[in-house]
Amino acid sequence: AVSFFWFRRDLRLEDNVGLYYALKSDYPVIPLFIFDESILDSLPKEDARVTFIHESLAKINTQLNGIGSSLLIKKGQTLEVWKNLIAEFDVKEVFFNKDYEPFAIQRDEAICQLLETNKSITYSFKDQVLFEENEITKSDGLPYTVYTPYKNKWLEKYYQNLPILEFDASELYFNFYKSQFVFPSLEQIGFVESSIKVKPYTFDALANYHDTRDFPAVDSTSYLSPHLRFGTVSIRKMIHFAAKTNAVFLSELIWREFFMQILYHFPKVVTQNFKSAYDGIQWRNNEEDFKRWCTGTTGYPMVDAGMRQLNETGYMHNRVRMVVASFLCKHLLIQWQWGEAYFAEKLLDYDLSANVGNWQWAAGTGCDAAPYFRVFNPDIQLKKFDEKGIYIRKWIPEFDLGYGEPMVDHAFARDRAIATYKAGILK
Ligand code: FAD
Repeated sequence: AVSFFWFRRDLRLEDNVGLYYALKSDYPVIPLFIFDESILDSLPKEDARVTFIHESLAKINTQLNGIGSSLLIKKGQTLEVWKNLIAEFDVKEVFFNKDYEPFAIQRDEAICQLLETNKSITYSFKDQVLFEENEITKSDGLPYTVYTPYKNKWLEKYYQNLPILEFDASELYFNFYKSQFVFPSLEQIGFVESSIKVKPYTFDALANYHDTRDFPAVDSTSYLSPHLRFGTVSIRKMIHFAAKTNAVFLSELIWREFFMQILYHFPKVVTQNFKSAYDGIQWRNNEEDFKRWCTGTTGYPMVDAGMRQLNETGYMHNRVRMVVASFLCKHLLIQWQWGEAYFAEKLLDYDLSANVGNWQWAAGTGCDAAPYFRVFNPDIQLKKFDEKGIYIRKWIPEFDLGYGEPMVDHAFARDRAIATYKAGILK
């Protein structure tokens, strides 16, 4: 008889809530990861995120080997994999951490149902966020849809009752199932190593974060996002650290939780406008324009530098993400879903809740969004945030030779955007 701990977006042994409780189980614990074919089949063979997942799993496996255990890696349709596992093992209990995305919720319900028919007991835990969907609500119990009051309530709750700091399971490691499962290579999973790598996170520049975070040429943000996405760090540790170090940095981590609860309560935002009054906007959706945006050839240096950074590294500075997103939706009048999908394909830190939330913010269609008449001027953004052109020269080496004409005049595009939004928004 065995228990399972199913790793998903929590790829670490340290301070992992579900794993901590799994190791307290009465049965030896098999640590499991499933490469889900329904996700993998749609990805390019050189996907940088699959490379990162594989590297993170390899690290865990090495740690486990040190204590006579190993990861069990499976590849297939998740439900089929579980059917095979219950045929192969006497599965008493299954532990996992909750995932709040609509697809994941559906998948987990199906797996739990299967396991229940097999008389296996399932346990799920909050690990991905400090406060989950129903913990920070308005006094009438309804979800917040505006960030600032959400943040205030979040902070109030946090400081009132500091949550437990760490789920240290190291003394329970003896309860891992003794095994030497074969650890597959990336090629055996059907992928090749990507040259695009996730950067290690850093807190070197955090003391001045509030002053420097908007300047893309200054390396002052944490690069935590892919690590939070895949759970190679614990959000609890990061939040406690942020609370001691920098209030603005903490408020960014709260944005992450804000958008997670929005996604949970309003799953329609994945594909539809949060504000349905905006459904009537007549997008131009011009394919050629979209291509120029994707390839970073719009003639606006700030937009082009950002898109090239994204294409080359899988990352883009937050200020520049805001500029390119606004440009796509407002200057080009292309619906946010196109940009969201492109980011989803390219970003190492792609996270459904943050991506959809921020895209809808930029498009003005989101819950607590930029007003529709605010149209970023990419050249003013450049002057404000990259005055010396250090960031743009890094990504557009030919910049000094004279840069091409903008694909659309700013004043014209601004007026067109405002008029189109005005005409499309239901009063
Ligand atoms: P830091 O400035 O060091 O911030 C620390 C952490 O706070 C981040 O790692 C992230 O977890 C969180 N955070 C910061 N800003 C936001 C924000 N606006 N919304 C939600 N969480 C935030 N972030 C993602 O993690 N995944 C995405 O898919 C994503 N898509 C975006 C799309 C658009 C159009 C825009 C404007 C922003 C998007 N962001 C997304 C938010 C933000 O740009 C990144 O989290 C940030 O740039 C990551 O770099 P960092 O870790 O160095 O950030």
